[in-house]
Amino acid sequence: ATPTALLVGTGRGAQLGILIKGPEVLESTRRIDTIVLDKTGTVTEGRMTLAGVHLAEGESREEVLRLAGAIEHASEHPIAQAVARAAKSDATVEDFANIEGLGVQGIVDGHAVLVGRPRLLAEWSQHLPAGLVATLEEEQAKGRTVVAVGWDGKARALLVVSDVVKETSAEAIRRLRTLGLTPVLLTGDNEAVARQVADEVGIDEVIAEVLPADKVDVVKRLQSEGKVVAMVGDGVNDAAALAQADLGLAMGTGTDAAIEASDLTLVRGDLLVAADAIRLSRRTLGTIK
Ligand code: ADP
Ligand code: MG
Repeated sequence: ATPTALLVGTGRGAQLGILIKGPEVLESTRRIDTIVLDKTGTVTEGRMTLAGVHLAEGESREEVLRLAGAIEHASEHPIAQAVARAAKSDATVEDFANIEGLGVQGIVDGHAVLVGRPRLLAEWSQHLPAGLVATLEEEQAKGRTVVAVGWDGKARALLVVSDVVKETSAEAIRRLRTLGLTPVLLTGDNEAVARQVADEVGIDEVIAEVLPADKVDVVKRLQSEGKVVAMVGDGVNDAAALAQADLGLAMGTGTDAAIEASDLTLVRGDLLVAADAIRLSRRTLGTIK
């Protein structure tokens, strides 16, 4: 490889807002045929807002937000931030614990509170009343993320949060396809929400309800099927998958863990630049040959 050509490539890269870890990265851009995209914070803004509260019979909205808000205040998850912002709770939490990719728990005013995936609450025998099961399905069909709130052994409410797809995501997916890449949406969120987002941006293949620790296995599985895989992500939970991928791309707006694990960083967190990065990198290689 001619160092000059690489230098031109990486210099132009810096202008576009792409940071490239090293010249060896460029080679893998030529071989990739599949691009796995994390949903929250990569395809979507990742800035969620609380869009609704559905209560089980006899529960108070105020109390649900006070207890759930206190717990979520201690978590950095985008869902947690939406709930904490809306609830403005000043209750204190003891024994806070994060249940990676599933939810959070803690003690608030003597109540053992659990907030997270409805399935997590069910596993703790906090089953939703029939009315809320129907509501959950309706909301998810609309593409909204729903978390359940329970305490003292009983499910009490559903919190609906919504996130918006980034303005440039659909165009970016179109360009990635033009480069011969098959996009795959990967998320810990539920299938219905994932489908809705995928439809919005033009992705056919969805892998949903994947626990953070299992994201790397999805990449490995695709590789074992003979695919050469690029992965784009932003979260701590994406780091292992980014490192495993043949080409890892991190959102510069994301976590340090994701950036460190990746080969390329998209400084402004814009997916359009991912397509630019791959095209530029392939073109740079063309000059070298
Ligand atoms: P993604 O892959 O889309 O970035 P995560 O793996 O971070 O999603 O989370 C998966 C699911 O776990 C969320 O959709 C939510 O249901 C649940 N969850 C995780 N953390 C929290 C939290 N702090 N509060 C409520 N629910 C949570
Ligand atoms: Mg994410």
